[in-house]
Amino acid sequence: MSSKSVDVVIVGAGMAGIKAAADLSQAGFSIAVLEGRDRLGGRLHTDRTSGSKLYELGCSWFHQSLDNPLLKLALDENLEIKPQYDDNGPGIYDADGPLDGSKKLGQAAADFGDFASLYFKSHPEVSDLSLKEIIDIFTSEHRLLSDAQKAEVKRILQIPTLPNGSVASDVSAKYNGLPALGRDVLPVGGYDIIYNHVKKPVGDSDIHLNTAVTSIIKESNNTVTVATENGDKYTSKYVIVTVPIGVLKANAIQFSPALPAPLSSAIDNLGVSELGKVYFEFDTVFWPETVDKFVYVGDIEGEYAPAVISNWYLFNGEKKHPGLFVIVSSKLISKIEANPSCAFDLLKPVLEAIRVDQATPVPAPTRTKSTNWNSDRFTLGAISRAKIGTDPAGPIAEFANGFDNVRFAGEHTILDGFTFVHGAWRSGAREAKYIIDDQSKI
Ligand SMILES: Cc1cc2nc3c(=O)[nH]c(=O)nc-3n(C[C@H](O)[C@H](O)[C@H](O)COP(=O)(O)OP(=O)(O)OC[C@H]3O[C@@H](n4cnc5c(N)ncnc54)[C@H](O)[C@@H]3O)c2cc1C
Repeated sequence: MSSKSVDVVIVGAGMAGIKAAADLSQAGFSIAVLEGRDRLGGRLHTDRTSGSKLYELGCSWFHQSLDNPLLKLALDENLEIKPQYDDNGPGIYDADGPLDGSKKLGQAAADFGDFASLYFKSHPEVSDLSLKEIIDIFTSEHRLLSDAQKAEVKRILQIPTLPNGSVASDVSAKYNGLPALGRDVLPVGGYDIIYNHVKKPVGDSDIHLNTAVTSIIKESNNTVTVATENGDKYTSKYVIVTVPIGVLKANAIQFSPALPAPLSSAIDNLGVSELGKVYFEFDTVFWPETVDKFVYVGDIEGEYAPAVISNWYLFNGEKKHPGLFVIVSSKLISKIEANPSCAFDLLKPVLEAIRVDQATPVPAPTRTKSTNWNSDRFTLGAISRAKIGTDPAGPIAEFANGFDNVRFAGEHTILDGFTFVHGAWRSGAREAKYIIDDQSKI
């Protein structure tokens, strides 16, 4: 048990926390970064425990690559991230292999986005619908699609459920999309290179691992007392809370006084996306070798929600290791988290779909590795997401407003890069700047 006084306590050493810590350290503030886990990085987790192979267990891609400050930073600083574009392949797959391109299904589905915007424009009385409802309206009102096309298109249109980790009846039609802003880029050399670069200005002795925060008390003299599970106490002028939305929803940290209503509503009004990854390694490559990514569509509202399969073989050490990873949403990932040994059996239909030779069985993997972001007490979900009927811009603005000297950062607190690791970085920079500017006024 110890007690310490610093200018700023930062709760969480993910990208948001470490960026805030770096900027404040550079500006001369004394800081303490309190991290519950025994490792740094949070949902940026590059696992290098297997020689030349890298497993990105959290974020993999630079999304929004035309407007991604982390990609820009890596390129400006010549970091050894080995950036590589990583595009979806030409086909969409289901359990029987590629969908029939001659039916023009992709083209039929392409009308949906514009249809949905026009629908909300012409029905101002409808504040939101579920993705399932708007898909049903699209397929029933669209007079130029054949019945066969409508049935298939209904499945293809489930694809936006993937980042939401949920079924279409639980996904907002209006707010589920994020601007694409550029193709996906993979840092083949490892996302941790960027994290370590951002962390450079932070002194090692300012970071405390295995230090889970349990309460944050705003004192009457404008200081904050932060208490940890280890019994330590930190007093500071500001605290920046970067724990994920799932952790906030679980009330894992007690705030005293309680957070004001706009902030507690913000916590309620964002959703949590349950996602995970499963890596499979094989002796042979049985899928189309040159395709970067495969999109799989499952059944409507069923267990086999859409999945993305990444051709990890192309990126994990000069094609020496046949392997794939699959991004899996809530229904299957919760079963896999409960029992990782069932991952191959559960995901076999997804792997079978992308076989080059549909007559040859998928071989048993030589190794399987799966994530547990949804049951891990330091995440309790993968990323934030919109809830039906709530524009996430509202809760995000409340997080950005904060509660005087109790500040919030993280992927759930920012619009530019919402849900993404570069958004987390931007939010850390925002909060450091708030404190630096606020102090200069005193
Ligand atoms: C499977 C998966 C795939 C993803 N893919 C991508 C992708 O390809 N591209 C992309 O841009 N983004 C992706 N993301 C999202 C991205 O990883 C996150 O947006 C980003 O890493 C979040 O950073 P953060 O700092 O907001 O939160 P975190 O990284 O979660 O940091 C919060 C920290 O707080 C700590 N903490 C929690 N509770 C406590 C407590 N009580 N006391 C002290 N510390 C605590 C946690 O351990 C953690 O280290 C993915 C996420 C997941 C899970």
